[in-house]
Amino acid sequence: MARPERAIVLARVPVGVPEPTDFRSVELPEQPLQEGEVRVQAEYLSLDPYLRGVLSGRHMGHRCELGAIVPGSAVGKVIESRDAMLQVGVTVIGEAGWREYPIMRQPRTWHIDLPMSTSLGVLGMPGLTAWAGIEHIVKPQSGETLVVSAAAGPVGATVGQLAQRLGARAIGIAGGQEKCELLRSHYGFADCVDYKRADFADALRRACPNGIDMYFDNVGGAVLETCLSMLALNARVALCGLMDQYNQEVRPKGPNLGSVIGARAMLKGLVVYDYFSQFDVFLGDVAPAVRSGQIRYLEDVSHGIAQAPEAFCRLMRGENRGKALVKLVDERA
Ligand code: NAP
Repeated sequence: MARPERAIVLARVPVGVPEPTDFRSVELPEQPLQEGEVRVQAEYLSLDPYLRGVLSGRHMGHRCELGAIVPGSAVGKVIESRDAMLQVGVTVIGEAGWREYPIMRQPRTWHIDLPMSTSLGVLGMPGLTAWAGIEHIVKPQSGETLVVSAAAGPVGATVGQLAQRLGARAIGIAGGQEKCELLRSHYGFADCVDYKRADFADALRRACPNGIDMYFDNVGGAVLETCLSMLALNARVALCGLMDQYNQEVRPKGPNLGSVIGARAMLKGLVVYDYFSQFDVFLGDVAPAVRSGQIRYLEDVSHGIAQAPEAFCRLMRGENRGKALVKLVDERA
C-alpha cells in the first residue's frame, strides 16, 4: 500500500553555523524493498555533531551531496521485511537518513527493557564513545581528576559519570551557568566550569588543584590548549571531537603541545567505529547502570521530521539540553 513519506534533503552546503534554509523537505515515492532489506517506521531520529562535517565534505569517509537525503541513524519498528531474520514488529537501529520510513539492511536489533530512544544516546553510539574512551584510553584510577568538555551532551555527561563510578573526580566544562548547574545537580559531577567566562583558566585551575590526570576533549581549540597546560604528570588525553571548529570554514592553528611533553602525557585519538564490535560488552556494563539510575541521561526532543533542520541547527549552536533527537511517530498518529 502506497503511503506518503517526507524526507529532508541538503539544499545548500552550510557556511558557518548551519541554518534551517540549508535543508529542504521533499516527498518520496514508495520504493520496493530488495532482498535482505527491511522498511522501518522511524520513531526517533538521532542528530549528531559529526553530521556537520559530512555536510561540508570534511568527515572521514563520507559526504552528503546536494539534493541527497541528510544522513543519520534512527530507531523504530520493522513494518515490512525481506530479511528472513527480521520479523515485522522488531525494534531496530540503523542508518536511516532524515526520512519517515527508512529502508535498512542488517540493522542492529534492540532487546533492552529501556526506552528505545536510549539506543541513540546513552546506550547508543555516543554512550559507546564515552565508554570506549574511559575503558580503553584514559582508564581512571580512584582519586584521579578527569576533565571533560562539551560535558552536558550525551558523550560528555556519560564520560563524567563513568569516571566517577570508578572513583575519579569528574570536572565538566560547558557553556553557561545553567548547563554547569545541570552537571553538578543532575549528573553529580564534582564541579563544572563555564568556558565562556573571562576567568575560565583560573576557575578550571581552582577546580583541579592537583592538575588534570585525564582530559576527554570534545571541542579542541582554546579549551584544549587550556586543559593541556594543566596536565598532571603521566596524564592521558582522549581526543574525541572538535566542536570548536566544525562551523569554521578554515581550520584554526593547532595548540602548542609543549605541555604534553613536560607532563609525559599520552594523547590518543578516539574513533567510535573501532569499538562497534564491543557494543554488547558496553551494553552489558552500562545498561544495568542506566536502569538503576546510577548513570543518568537527558534528551532534547523535537517533534516531526520538519523540525529536524532547526533541531540540528540548535545542536550546532550549543542550545541542546541532552541528546538531540527528533520524535517522528506521534505526528503521524
Ligand atoms: P553535544 O555535547 O550534545 O553537543 C555538542 C556541544 O558542544 C554543544 O551543545 C555545545 O555545548 C558544545 N560546543 C559547541 N561549540 C563549542 C565550542 N566552540 N567550544 C566548546 N564547546 C562547544 O554532542 P555529543 O553528541 O555529546 O558529541 C560531543 C563531541 O563528541 C562532538 O565533538 C562529537 O563530534 C564527538 N564525537 C566523537 C566521536 C568519535 O568517534 N570520535 C563519536 C561521537 C561523538 P556548550 O553549550 O557547552 O558549548
